[in-house]
Amino acid sequence: MSARAPIYLDNHATTAVDPRVLDAMLPFFTRDYGNAASRSHAFGWRAEAATEKARQQLAAFIGASSPSEVVWTSGATESNNLAIKGVAEIHRPAGNHIVTCASEHKAVLDPCKRLEQQGFKVTVLGVGPDGRLSLDSLLDALTLETILVSVMLANNEIGTVQPVAEIGAVCRERRILFHCDAAQGLGKIPFDVQKMNIDLASFSAHKLYGPKGIGALFVRRDKPRVRVASLIDGGGHERGMRSGTLNVPGVVGFGSAVEICSREMSEDAARTSKLRDRLLSELRKRVDGLVVNGSMEHRLPNNLNVSFERTDGEALMLSMKDVAVSSGAACTSASLEPSHVLRAIGLPSDLANGSIRFGFGRFNTEEEVDYVAGTIERNVKRLRLDLRSDPAVYNRGGLGERHGLE
Ligand SMILES: *Cc1c(COP(=O)(O)O)cnc(C)c1O
Repeated sequence: MSARAPIYLDNHATTAVDPRVLDAMLPFFTRDYGNAASRSHAFGWRAEAATEKARQQLAAFIGASSPSEVVWTSGATESNNLAIKGVAEIHRPAGNHIVTCASEHKAVLDPCKRLEQQGFKVTVLGVGPDGRLSLDSLLDALTLETILVSVMLANNEIGTVQPVAEIGAVCRERRILFHCDAAQGLGKIPFDVQKMNIDLASFSAHKLYGPKGIGALFVRRDKPRVRVASLIDGGGHERGMRSGTLNVPGVVGFGSAVEICSREMSEDAARTSKLRDRLLSELRKRVDGLVVNGSMEHRLPNNLNVSFERTDGEALMLSMKDVAVSSGAACTSASLEPSHVLRAIGLPSDLANGSIRFGFGRFNTEEEVDYVAGTIERNVKRLRLDLRSDPAVYNRGGLGERHGLE
């Protein structure tokens, strides 16, 4: 059986909306279109009831004590900004030191950089070759001035799962707030703000088969009661932490997507990890000079990130018009550098430039995996032949604009 092209293996960048999620959202566009903040009529009440149901769904899924600990945002980028800048502003009198990690998403690193420009001290911890943060390096970095630690649940490029529960325990003991960007891990692996001692956590619906443009920040309300300064003011929605009319269909879709994950997560994980392992073993059979980036042990079930020796990842990616993947390669134009995550795990730049990220999802099939393995084999071999006849091909590398990995 041949697979139907094009094939989407970029599920870390975004996922398709599950048709069941779309069905749940549709009435809230044309029939139940009220403003959730309208207190005076049934349109508003229905919209509010729907957003509160979604709040319960997300709160239950992450182990929050109360739905009121969930603040809706536009996505994980906004949630990360709200958590980091919001905590920094409130806690400045207590200390000015923030600790994060080199392999974090730019939506964590850039807000930290901004705070550094404003006088905060930021420690960016390195990671091992497997992409994991060591607890010893974290313990060494903490000072009496430390107000916040921000470490992600799972990496969006190499899928590395961080020792979040251990980090949470350390932070709780030292009475330092712990923020976790869980955008990539939620719905893929178990996550529990109680068990993991997490004080703030960022989520995004479009990474778990929900719609784009809707996310959430968990803000703990008890032991400790966490306060964040708002970034967006006006109207006092979301307990004053995030003003603005709620994206009701988006919120409903997020709740529905989470509900499905709560029922199907282990099944999804088993299926995607089987597809992932199948692709890896097929590739190992078919092409030499294959390097797996990151840890196989502490890894998202749906992630594979590999480098092909003597192969430019950007060129490989662009040679496969019917397969959607991402590359950590740098375009050779001066300002663009290879992925900061691959650099953080110490990957030499030639291998970083030869990297491809495969993100498997709920809707991928074995046929697709077999088709992709064949396509990769053909194109890697062809590119390596080109390389032998014309070394300049290698240096030209990226043939188009490079897009960051989401
Ligand atoms: C996708 C992603 C984000 C950004 O989420 P948006 O909702 O697209 O803003 C942040 N962090 C991680 C780890 C991600 O994978």
